[in-house]
Amino acid sequence: MSIFDDAVFNARTAVDNVSKKAGKVIDISKLRIAAADLKSELSQKYMILGRICYEEEVNGKDLKKSHDEIVEIIGELKSHLQSVNELIEAAKDNIKCENCGTYNPKNALFCNKCGEKLALPVSDIDSLSPDDVIDFTEDNFDDDDLL
Ligand SMILES: [Zn+2]
Repeated sequence: MSIFDDAVFNARTAVDNVSKKAGKVIDISKLRIAAADLKSELSQKYMILGRICYEEEVNGKDLKKSHDEIVEIIGELKSHLQSVNELIEAAKDNIKCENCGTYNPKNALFCNKCGEKLALPVSDIDSLSPDDVIDFTEDNFDDDDLL
């Protein structure tokens, strides 16, 4: 198994873990954590893809299989991130019931599920944009992961 196969395998596992996490959560803070995890995974995958392209272009290696798979993984991560961001958008204008945790429409006075009187809407939550995805910081780059 080559280094790139390892990287692709790890990436695949990360996609599964993050999507499982995102599928279960309803709490907005957990959604934000899931979105942050997805963004960080995406950054790493873009770097792996960049390295694969470099090896193909400059060193003439045949890495088409790894290349195609990492592109597919990036697509999956982006689609998960979009779903999570949509859930965050849907949740942030809504009122969370302090009693049962259900999100209710922002004009609701009582919880749809348990009937508890509702507090003011959650409105101080930063929006997350898919445009923030690429974050090439020094900390993320580690040559040892690749070669
Ligand atoms: Zn409730």
